[in-house]
Amino acid sequence: MSHSNTPQQVLEDTFGYSAFRGLQGEVVEHICAGGSALVLMPTGGGKSLCYQVPALVRDGLSIVVSPLIALMQDQVQNLQQNGVAAAFLNSSLSAEEARKVIEQAQNGKLKLLYMAPERLLMQSTLQILDSLEISLFAIDEAHCVSQWGHDFRPEYAQLRLLAQRFPNVPRLALTATADDQTRADIKACLALEQHPQYIDSFDRPNIQYHIQTRQKGLDQLLSFIEDNHSGQSGIIYCLSRRKVEETAVKLAATGLNALPYHAGMESEIRAIYLRRFLHEHPIIIVATVAFGMGIDRPDVRFVAHLDLPKSIEAYYQETGRAGRDGLPSTVWMAYGLQDAITLRQMMENSNNGNQRRVEHHKLEAMLGMCEITSCRRQALLSYFGEQLQQPCGNCDNCIEPPQTWDGTESARKALSCAYRTGQRFGVNYLISVLRGADETRVKQNGHHQQTTYRLGKDTNEATWRSVYRQLIAHGYLRADTEHGGLHLTEQARPLLKGEETLHLRLDGKKAKSEKAKRRKSAVALEGIEEDLWEELRLLRKELAEEQGIPPFMVFHDATLAEMAREQPQTLDEMSAISGVGSSKLERFGEDFVHFFNVYQTP
Ligand code: ADP
Ligand code: ZN
Repeated sequence: MSHSNTPQQVLEDTFGYSAFRGLQGEVVEHICAGGSALVLMPTGGGKSLCYQVPALVRDGLSIVVSPLIALMQDQVQNLQQNGVAAAFLNSSLSAEEARKVIEQAQNGKLKLLYMAPERLLMQSTLQILDSLEISLFAIDEAHCVSQWGHDFRPEYAQLRLLAQRFPNVPRLALTATADDQTRADIKACLALEQHPQYIDSFDRPNIQYHIQTRQKGLDQLLSFIEDNHSGQSGIIYCLSRRKVEETAVKLAATGLNALPYHAGMESEIRAIYLRRFLHEHPIIIVATVAFGMGIDRPDVRFVAHLDLPKSIEAYYQETGRAGRDGLPSTVWMAYGLQDAITLRQMMENSNNGNQRRVEHHKLEAMLGMCEITSCRRQALLSYFGEQLQQPCGNCDNCIEPPQTWDGTESARKALSCAYRTGQRFGVNYLISVLRGADETRVKQNGHHQQTTYRLGKDTNEATWRSVYRQLIAHGYLRADTEHGGLHLTEQARPLLKGEETLHLRLDGKKAKSEKAKRRKSAVALEGIEEDLWEELRLLRKELAEEQGIPPFMVFHDATLAEMAREQPQTLDEMSAISGVGSSKLERFGEDFVHFFNVYQTP
């Protein structure tokens, strides 16, 4: 690649795209001019091009710091498919292979070199870099520098030496995690305080948000998949390894191609399953949060949570793995009262006081997000400090506004029952007292003589559960971390004193019309013949197998869909399709053009 290329030429020729997206253009221009920057973009926002284009425009070698081997391999393979001279240095290479890569770098044969921070920080590596012309340090997943983040890596923190040792080389930090603390840490570590930051909107308009209360989680999940995403690929998150294993087995038993993934599995098995996830379709991974960063598969059509994530940040990150290709996708969660209690207990056992308070706070925000009756996207974005003027129209609450009821009286009963029994008991017990259950335990405690005994006999158990869940979620009650006993917070006082009213969500009234919104399996492929689509996928799969790469590395669904619409008859027409760069045109163009030459519109 000669240095006379402009960013626009590189974008079109190498990547096959016609225009930069969002803030990409500005970032690229700034970096090409030798500037440094911090870039915050949501997952799928297009961070990679922010450094890949400058790497090809500028003279010299760009170093990309990346935390995971799988991530590097993916990115490098992708680049190579686009004809870019890229390589990685990591422990998966033999000494001989590593030496070859270094040699290529020294001979000016490489434009991008990916490595983990450990490797970069080795004296031997630094010395090699001293002798080369370095055009850019791109620090991907830069939030790993921050102790506050969820992916802290001590080696990332040592990247602070880059600014001192290579003061004239631009530094570009990129992340999708954006809270103020993390942002400040990144700037401090990489000496970016005096450099511009580019913050893109965190909205993911192609993602539809759904949160429901859990009755029979697995059944709910199965009908969600069947109704909305049959034949598609997705990720399912569970809190525990055991639940991951069980869920994967049960899904497989219904005929779905489902695999488990968690940190307790052997690393070879994990690697195999990750590979299968990238190559097979449809496929479902059931995972703990260990399955995360670096999941680059662009056509994940759904992400489901069978348990509550521990913060909105985590929820946003995990759900963000849906729909990187920009096509419509759904994220779905079923959560229950017990989740909040379990998570609180886990936090209690693991951390010091200060951190624990922060974590509890975040959990409460997450619970609030589950229970709101207004637009979820507005709430989500506002949590990240962004205002969305209008309700989005693409979340469950917008699509079908939840019904509410005046729960003031019931809430008072529920609170006073907790209070009068000494704020030591969990939900099940409190409901027994309210409903006047004839239980030994209640009698032994003398609670059958309390004024709240039988006070709620006319309301069924499910409703009481819903009341308690919402009281906890809205912060009126807090679960004692040791025994799960519920105690009242300050906030409960005005409600108990009759100075406040409370509207609660009416649970379980929506199953019907969610089905009515059922989508065709070929999401967003409206107007495309099902048969044509399948044949194109088949061709893509064959080509991918020949090359030993995942199908999406041949072309994304979005590119395939555009082909299906345009039906290119010549290489020229083919090259006009978004996502078809010159390297892929050369490699796959003939095959697709031939396909369309002989394809008969039915
Ligand atoms: P991130 O790293 O921010 O999650 P990626 O860099 O992986 O996002 O980009 C997400 C997807 O968007 C990729 O499939 C990429 O090819 C596509 N993409 C990025 N920029 C553009 C663009 N300017 N035009 C079209 N597609 C783009
Ligand atoms: Zn909405």
